[in-house]
Amino acid sequence: MTAKTLSRRTREHFTGCLIAGAVGDALGASIEFMTLDQIRSTYGESGLTGYAPAYGRKGAITDDTQMMLFTAEGLVLSRIRQEYPGNDGMIDCTYHALLRWLTTQQPDRQTDLMQSHGSCAIVEGVLTGHTSLFSRRAPGNSCLSALASGTMGTPDRPVNDSKGCGGVMRIAPVGLAFPDVEKAFDIGCRSAAITHGHPTGYLAAGTQAAIISLIITGHSLTEAVNAGIHILKQRKNAKETLDALTATVETACSASPSPETVETLGEGWIAEEALAIGLYCAMVHENEMAKALLLSVNHSGDSDSTGTITGNILGALHGKSAIPPHWIDDLELNGLIEETAMDLYSEFVFKR
Ligand SMILES: [Mg+2]
Repeated sequence: MTAKTLSRRTREHFTGCLIAGAVGDALGASIEFMTLDQIRSTYGESGLTGYAPAYGRKGAITDDTQMMLFTAEGLVLSRIRQEYPGNDGMIDCTYHALLRWLTTQQPDRQTDLMQSHGSCAIVEGVLTGHTSLFSRRAPGNSCLSALASGTMGTPDRPVNDSKGCGGVMRIAPVGLAFPDVEKAFDIGCRSAAITHGHPTGYLAAGTQAAIISLIITGHSLTEAVNAGIHILKQRKNAKETLDALTATVETACSASPSPETVETLGEGWIAEEALAIGLYCAMVHENEMAKALLLSVNHSGDSDSTGTITGNILGALHGKSAIPPHWIDDLELNGLIEETAMDLYSEFVFKR
C-alpha cells in the first residue's frame, strides 16, 4: 500500500501514540478489576469520567505502559548497539529489555538473570534508572512466567500457550518504528511471542503493530483496519483474530456506541478481545479522543489494556495535541514517556 495522506512519521504523532496509550492505561487503572455495575455505582451512570486513584495516586500507569516503554527501549538500543544487527538482533534486544522490566517486578531475580544473560543485557538501559518503574502494577502472569523461564519464546518455539493481551497491549512502538507494514506485522508477532506462545496472542499484536504502522505512514484508520484483515487472511492460525476483527468492523457499523455494545466484543483479558475492544472504541469515536478513551475503559473487562490500545491508535492518528492537556499533566512519568517516544523517533526516523 502507498500512503494516501501526509505521513504522520513526526514527533507529534510518535509522542501522541505513546502518551495517549499511557493515558488510556491510567484511566483504566482504577477500574481494571470492576464490573460495569460496580463502576456505575461508584462513579455514576456515565461511569468514570477522569483519573481516579490507583496505586496511591491519580494518573498512575500500569504494567501496560511499563512494558510498552521497555519494548521501545529494546528497539532503540538495537539501533545503537552493534551487537544487535538485523531483525534477529531487534528481537534479542527486545527480549533483554523485557528481562530488565522483569527485574523491576522481581528485583531479587537480578543476580540469576545476570548469570544467565550477562550484565549488559540486564543492567544497561535508561529505564531501569527510574526507581518509579520498580513497582508492581498488576503484571500479567504469562509475562512474568515466560520471562522468568530463561527461554525466549518465538512463534516456532512457543514458550507457553497463552493468548493473554500482554503482547498486544505493549506493541505500539513496533508500529511506530517500521513504515513497512509487513515488517511491522512480523516484528510485532515475534516481539509478542517472547511471552505469548498461542498464535492469537502474537497475531493480534502483529495486527496492532501493522495498524499503527499504516496510520503513521498516512493511511486512514479504515484503510489500516482493512489492510490488517488482509494480512491476517494470508497467515496460518489466524481465524480467532480475524473473527474478532470482522466482529469489530460489523459492530462499529451497526450498533450505537455504549458500554453494553463494547461488552458484546468480549472482556479484553485475551488478545483478540483486547484488540477488538480497543479498535472498536477508536473507530466509533475516531475524532473524539476523550470520548473514545472513556468508552474504552468503562466496561467489565481489562480496562487499562483496552484503554492503552485505543490510546495508541488515536494518538498515532491525531498526535499529542489531541489529548486533553490535563490528562497529560496528571499522567505519571509523562516526561519519561515523551522522552522514550522521542528516542524512538530519533533512531527510526530522524537518523535514517
Ligand atoms: Mg495493566
